[in-house]
Amino acid sequence: MDAPELVALLQGRRVAVLTGAGMSTDSGIPDYRGPDSPPNNPMTIRQFTSDPVFRQRYWARNHIGWRHMDETMPNAGHRALAALESDGVLVGLITQNVDLLHTKAGSRTVVNLHGTYAQVVCLDCGHTMPRTALATALEAANPGFLERAEAVGGIAVAPDADAVVADTSSFVIVDCPLCGGMLKPDIVYFGENVPKDRVEQAYSLVDSSDALLVAGSSLTVYSGYRFVRHAAAHGIPVAIINRGPTRGDDLAAVKVDAGCSEMLTLLAGELVRTCTASPG
Ligand SMILES: [Zn+2]
Repeated sequence: MDAPELVALLQGRRVAVLTGAGMSTDSGIPDYRGPDSPPNNPMTIRQFTSDPVFRQRYWARNHIGWRHMDETMPNAGHRALAALESDGVLVGLITQNVDLLHTKAGSRTVVNLHGTYAQVVCLDCGHTMPRTALATALEAANPGFLERAEAVGGIAVAPDADAVVADTSSFVIVDCPLCGGMLKPDIVYFGENVPKDRVEQAYSLVDSSDALLVAGSSLTVYSGYRFVRHAAAHGIPVAIINRGPTRGDDLAAVKVDAGCSEMLTLLAGELVRTCTASPG
């Protein structure tokens, strides 16, 4: 595999990276928009807040799914990006993924645009708590549930730590320990906005770069696509690595139709080699 145009574009530039679900498929987390995606639709914030039965089912599945996500390991693509950051090629990255795999791989400047699976937030008072703390409370409220669900098997973890569980009708939800309000995974769902300060942080990362590299996103969602538009509008060249077409293809100087793991590994090798080979 070879991508001379991609290497030429990024060579000698300070690169900001935007990643999406295609980044984590090689770690076993399915991409629900990719070519091989399962046919389930991601939930909306309205479904979650307005429907108690939906919420009960959601938490039951999340109770299983989050710990599988917690055990998921970064892949070669994550490691390549971490290496490029420590070599000074990357200024940092923005990710639409909530799986924390970039952080696990050693990336330091990471904007988790859509939040993370590892934290929970109260929709009423704003209190946040680690997902591990909620797990303890949910286990106490639902003794034996985990064992029964695991015994059924067939666990498939979706990008938001959703898991397939047979019976959720008896599952007991836990409310905010401070105010009794509604708890939600601290993940930006469809119909929600990314917090303003997080968006600003992401924009300034793009502004501090000489090139924007998109890896593993079809850019369907505006929350990520806007950074591609911003870069293009400010004369910052955009490169895209993705399997299949993306909404940003027309704005990209280079588009490579490939998987993230192999292409980023190749890229890391090439860019680091040119770094060390260049005199001075
Ligand atoms: Zn609260």
